[in-house]
Amino acid sequence: MEKIKTETIVALATPPGKSGIGVVRLSGSLSSQIAKKILNKKSIKPRHAYYLPFYDTDKKILDYGIAILFKSPHSFTGEDVLELQAHGGPVILDCIIKTILSLGCRLAHPGEFSERAFLNEKIDLVQAEAIADLIDASSEQAAQSAISSLQGEFSNRIHQLVEVITELRIFVESAIDFPEEEIDFLSDNKVSNSLSKIIEKLESVKQSAKQGALLSEGMTIAIAGKPNVGKSTLLNSLAEKEAAIVTDIPGTTRDLLKETINLDGMPLHIIDTAGLRESEDKIEQEGIRRAWDAIDRADKIIFVVDSTENNEIDPKKLWPDFFEKHESRKPFVIVKNKIDLIGEKPHIEQKEDCSIVYLSAKNQEGIKELKEYLKNYMGYKTHAEGIFIARRRHLDALERAHQFLLSGKNQLEKNKAGELLAEDLRQAQLALSEITGEFTSDDLLGKIFESFCIGK
Ligand code: GDP
Repeated sequence: MEKIKTETIVALATPPGKSGIGVVRLSGSLSSQIAKKILNKKSIKPRHAYYLPFYDTDKKILDYGIAILFKSPHSFTGEDVLELQAHGGPVILDCIIKTILSLGCRLAHPGEFSERAFLNEKIDLVQAEAIADLIDASSEQAAQSAISSLQGEFSNRIHQLVEVITELRIFVESAIDFPEEEIDFLSDNKVSNSLSKIIEKLESVKQSAKQGALLSEGMTIAIAGKPNVGKSTLLNSLAEKEAAIVTDIPGTTRDLLKETINLDGMPLHIIDTAGLRESEDKIEQEGIRRAWDAIDRADKIIFVVDSTENNEIDPKKLWPDFFEKHESRKPFVIVKNKIDLIGEKPHIEQKEDCSIVYLSAKNQEGIKELKEYLKNYMGYKTHAEGIFIARRRHLDALERAHQFLLSGKNQLEKNKAGELLAEDLRQAQLALSEITGEFTSDDLLGKIFESFCIGK
């Protein structure tokens, strides 16, 4: 394991293709030695930008460019790092990488530079993810919140939480060690008050993280409904382009169609599902199976009905299949489409258990209102202060920690069970440490870094 981590890796750090310059990055113990060979220099001053020729192993000049050497531990990865800024042509960059590979390097795996930075404690897991999120940011807000996470805003709040939980745990555990005093200790309001304060703090972090996750991952909605009610037309109207094929023949949308639109900086992933109906056609059946999968994974469902056909708005009557298959019901909104045909104006009706949006997908009437509704539904604020980027995995961990704290509070208040409270505090602490990567399984780490691109 140790040996693998000290292997020297190389990758193109800029996107493949033609550009003014292309950057090749190396990390590992051979970086210095390789730098001397490729630059044909006996000694290289770290953190100094040299403009000079890059040579191949036969001393032939490959290109002229800038070379900078960073010595361990003062580099991104914490290892020796060499950055070569060459001209950005695919052939020349390939020749440089081939030369470097022949000098004892290997190609980096996706995310391996960031993984090394994490393993060498240059950044924590949240910061590593923030780098990927910054690069992938689809809006200015997302980029700004990624910077906040990268600067440690999110990690600091997690550390503060872990710290107060640890303090309380020490207090509770010391009470358990003196059984004759335990009851007094635990009856004392001090523990209960501290626990309430911790829960409050965690809820506030959770709220900010939720907003951050919306910025980075957005929400997924599935558009469902019977054939021909106007699902594809609605997708096109929301996406403002011709993404789906619109026909008046039932069952034409055979596969899932996905579109991502930008709703004030929040990505909204829209899935148009195949018309959910019984079918003999094998391909259509597969489309229907995928539609149910998408519905299961979506954050919310837009259930479209044709307002010329149906005045029914009771979700259970409109869609009995859904309620048969899904016991824990997924939130949904009903869209009454084709209002142009019944002379209705676009508006939203708030019913006890769902909202109904009246619109005309074809005429683009009521689309703005639907978008506004979806944004409000997710609790999205356009100008939220102190937001840091977060991911679903962070939200899951925060939720688990929250549940352990609530259970601990219960153990304390109802049962005066100090040991169980201490265990809940320990579990909450573990869940939080998963966020920053202090206690994260190798499997999860592997998955996180694999999702980065090569060169990151
Ligand atoms: P899907 O099978 O549910 O995806 O339905 P489509 O989007 O393919 O639409 C079926 C038909 O309804 C097409 O002829 C559309 O032009 C028509 N349609 C969709 N939305 C509206 C609308 O708001 N008003 C009217 N008048 N027709 C619509």
